[in-house]
Amino acid sequence: MSSENFNKNDELIRQWQEKIKVADRNNIFCHCRFCGYEWVDSDLKPICKSCGSKDVESISCWQFPDG
Ligand SMILES: [Zn+2]
Repeated sequence: MSSENFNKNDELIRQWQEKIKVADRNNIFCHCRFCGYEWVDSDLKPICKSCGSKDVESISCWQFPDG
């Protein structure tokens, strides 16, 4: 039994909780039509963080269908 594995797993869970917190705060899922980059933002008119394109699809998280 390794406590190191437990700590790694714990760290992974913590990282996910951070991501969920960020998504919860920002709530705008963004998808760049130009390069395909995906991220979560708080701006409804975001600019792609990867390529700088303004051709970005923004979807509010609460618009996602169940499942
Ligand atoms: Zn892009």
